[in-house]
Amino acid sequence: MAQLQRIAIASSQIQNGQIALTSPQQHYLYRVLRLQARDNFIAMDGMGQWWLAQLTGTVAAIIQPLNVATELPTAITLMAALPKGNAFDEVVRFSTELGVTCIAPLLSDRTLLKPSLQKLQRWQRISQEAAEQSERACIPTILEPATFRNVILNTTATHRYLCESRGNYPHLKNIINEISVPDEIAIAIGPEGGWTEAEIEFAIAHGFQPVSLGKRILRAVTAPIAALSIVTATLESVVN
Ligand code: SAM
Repeated sequence: MAQLQRIAIASSQIQNGQIALTSPQQHYLYRVLRLQARDNFIAMDGMGQWWLAQLTGTVAAIIQPLNVATELPTAITLMAALPKGNAFDEVVRFSTELGVTCIAPLLSDRTLLKPSLQKLQRWQRISQEAAEQSERACIPTILEPATFRNVILNTTATHRYLCESRGNYPHLKNIINEISVPDEIAIAIGPEGGWTEAEIEFAIAHGFQPVSLGKRILRAVTAPIAALSIVTATLESVVN
C-alpha cells in the first residue's frame, strides 16, 4: 500500500460509498500525480481514517477502509514561539513528521512577529502535506497564534515541559524516561531571544517543568525537533 499516493479529503465529501472530489483534488490527482481513471489512491480524512479508493471521473469509489497505526499513543502539543521570517514553516513540517497532535504558535514576550491570517492557512497546508507524506492518520491541529500566557491557561495537558537553554535543569530525556505513557504532553519552546523570567515563572506556576535539551544552545527551529525526537522515541519504545 506504501506506493499509493495519499490525499487528504473532508469526511463530508463521502456519500454512498463515493468521494466527491473537489476541483483542486481532481487537478492534483489527474494533472500533478498523473493518475488515470481506475487508478487507486488512498484518501485520508486527517482524523484517523484512511480508505483505498479508485478514481472514476470526478468522483472516487471507496474500495475499502484501511487500518493505519502510525499515530503515537500520547497526544503531544508543541507550543513554539514564532521565529523570524518563514522559519515557522519548518517547525510545522518537522513536528508534523515527528507525530505532534497540535501546534500552538506563540506570541511570547520577545516575539517580534504578528502573523497574518494567510500564515495560519499556509501552516495548515504544510501540515497536511507533511501528514500525507509521513503516512500519518491524523493531521495536526494548528491553533491561531496567541500569547504564551493564554495558551498556558487553555492547555489540558497532564504533563508539561518548558525547554530552557540556560540554568541547571534536568534533561528532558531523563524526565520522560521516568513517566508511564501519559494522555497528553505539552512542550514549550521559546523564541530566538529566549523566554523572559516572567514567562518562566508563569509557566512553572502553571505546572510546567523546566527541562534541558543538552549543553548546546539550539536554534528555535532545531529545539522542537530535538525535544519531539526524545519524546516520540521514548513513547514508541515503551509501547513496542
Ligand atoms: N537566546 C537564548 C539564550 O541565549 O539562552 C537562546 C534561545 S534558543 C535560540 C530558542 C529556544 O530553544 C529556547 O528558548 C529554548 O526553549 C529552546 N532551547 C534551545 N536550546 C536549548 C537547550 N539546550 N535546552 C533547552 N531548551 C533549549
